[in-house]
Amino acid sequence: MFVDSHCHPDLPPLAGREEDMLAAMNDARVGHALAVSVNLERFPAILALAERHPHIFASVGVHPEETDVREAEAAELVRLAAHPRIVAIGETGLDYYWHKDAPEWQRNRFRTHIHAARDARLPLIIHCRNAFADTLAILREEGAREIGGVYHCFTGDVAYAEKVLDALDFYISFSGIVSFKNAAALKEVARMVPENRLLIETDAPYLAPVPHRGKPNQPAWVIHVAEELARLRQTSVEAIARASRENFFRLFARATPVAA
Ligand SMILES: [Zn+2]
Ligand SMILES: [Zn+2]
Repeated sequence: MFVDSHCHPDLPPLAGREEDMLAAMNDARVGHALAVSVNLERFPAILALAERHPHIFASVGVHPEETDVREAEAAELVRLAAHPRIVAIGETGLDYYWHKDAPEWQRNRFRTHIHAARDARLPLIIHCRNAFADTLAILREEGAREIGGVYHCFTGDVAYAEKVLDALDFYISFSGIVSFKNAAALKEVARMVPENRLLIETDAPYLAPVPHRGKPNQPAWVIHVAEELARLRQTSVEAIARASRENFFRLFARATPVAA
């Protein structure tokens, strides 16, 4: 059984096609998924999904790309995170790809989320794009190692992955990008991450893996990420499924697995 450790089922075209999405997961033996929050406005939809389905978990947070949304204060995040279906804080981090001016408000928002995660004793879901040094520096300054977390949709190189593992002891999650032909550096990372630190995800509806590249993604297709990791690491798909599932429930300790 597979776990999609990061998806956005509240976004179209997944939103409004819940039954199809769940049926496809079931057919592909994707037993669990984590629905990741990107702003407080849409958080109720994420939470409602996790309340309806025991195999779907949720997080709470405001994504670093989001503008024109309500800013989250640490106390509010902690209060929302007290709900038993919430298993993580995020996604949070830094994105200097969409915000090339590296704005101060992004770093402030990020620190707020780390404070909330520490108070709530929940792990962090980190989004990091073109902001590698600052993301690592802030996580270290704020003592994020004590609560743990995952770099979702990892796009760094081997040297950066080593820093994430050594300095933070965080998990590294691979998306469909690892299956893309031109992702040579990321394929190297996929070969070196310790088995007890890897996760798999779709980031659906974005980043559909090969052989569905370019289409709207869905949690069922996390199996193709597992297939690519198995190929790169010269192991079986079942071994990747087992390790990434164990890692998921170790990191997101509040999540209770549903029997298959
Ligand atoms: Zn992200
Ligand atoms: Zn995401």
